[in-house]
Amino acid sequence: MSQNRTFSFEFFPPKTPEGVAKLRTTRQQLAQFKPEFFSVTFGAGGTTRDGTLAAVLEIQGEGHAAAPHLSCIGSTRDSIGAILQEYRNHGIRHIVALRGDIPSGMVGIGEFRYANELVAFIRETHGDWFHIEVAAYPEYHPQATSAAADIDNFVRKVEAGADSAITQYFYNADAYFHFVDAVRAKGVTIPIVPGLMPIANFSQLARFSDACGAEIPRWLRLKLQAYGDDIASIRALGLDVVTELGDKLLSGGAPGLHFYTLNQAGLVSTVWQRLGL
Ligand code: FAD
Repeated sequence: MSQNRTFSFEFFPPKTPEGVAKLRTTRQQLAQFKPEFFSVTFGAGGTTRDGTLAAVLEIQGEGHAAAPHLSCIGSTRDSIGAILQEYRNHGIRHIVALRGDIPSGMVGIGEFRYANELVAFIRETHGDWFHIEVAAYPEYHPQATSAAADIDNFVRKVEAGADSAITQYFYNADAYFHFVDAVRAKGVTIPIVPGLMPIANFSQLARFSDACGAEIPRWLRLKLQAYGDDIASIRALGLDVVTELGDKLLSGGAPGLHFYTLNQAGLVSTVWQRLGL
C-alpha cells in the first residue's frame, strides 16, 4: 500500500487441484506488492460456496487479509446467515456484498432482491463486525432503468451501511469521475475504488464487456480486433491502455485500485510496476 490508498487483487475460486496450485503461485507473486486484501468471487446462487471459503482460508492462512464476495440472489436469510457466521468464526472481517445474477434455470429469486437488502441484513445480524464493500457501475448497471435510478440504487447500498465500493471495470476514466461526482452530490463520502481489468484476450474481453455493460471504446475495440491471433500485440496495447488509465485515475484522486486478475499475475504485475506503485 502507498499513500493511504487501497490496492487489492481479485481471484475466482479454482475448480481443479492444478488451478489451486496455480493460484497459490499467482498469489505469491502478487503478495510482494502488499495489497490491502485479496478478494475471492462467489458463484451465482452459491455454486462456489465451498471453493470461495477454501480459497479465502488459504489466503488467510498465508497471513494476508481476505475478502470473500457474497451474492444473495436466490438465497434465504438462513443460508446467507450461515455463511456469514462461518466467515466470522474464521475471523474474516471483510465482505464484498452483491446481488449477483440469477442463474438460468433458477426458480424464484429467494429472500433478497437487491444488494442493499444484503448490506442491511449483514449490519442487522453482525453490527460492525464486517467491513462491507459494494459494487459500483461508472457506466451504469446493464439492468438499470436509467442513470439516475442506478445512482439512487447505489446510494441505497451506502445508506444501508456499505463502508466502501469497488467499481465494475471500464476503459473511460471520465465515466468514473462523473460517477463519483454524482454520488458525492448525493452525500456519499465512502471511498469508491476503481476496478481495473488487464487486457489479455480480445474475444473474451468483448464477451465479458457486452454482458456486464462495460464499454470498450470504439478505437480500442477496432485496434484489438485487428490484431486477430497476435496475442503479443493485444497485450502490449492493453498494457499501455490500462497503465494510462490507472495513472489517470490515481492522479485524478481515485483512492486506490482493485485489479481483476483472472488468477494471473503477469499483466497485473507489469501494470503495477509501470504505475510505480
Ligand atoms: P444491485 O446493487 O442490487 O443492483 C442490481 C440492479 O438492480 C441495478 O440495475 C440497480 O440499479 C437495480 N437496483 C438496485 N437496488 C434496487 C432497488 N432497491 N429497487 C429497484 N432497483 C434496484 N457476481 C457474482 O455472481 N459473484 C461475484 O463474486 C461478483 N463480484 C463482483 C464484484 C464487483 C466489484 C462487481 C462490480 C461485480 C461483481 N459481480 C459478482 C457481478 C454482480 O453480481 C452483478 O453485476 C449483478 O448483476 C449486480 O449486483 P449488485 O450487487 O451490483 O446489485
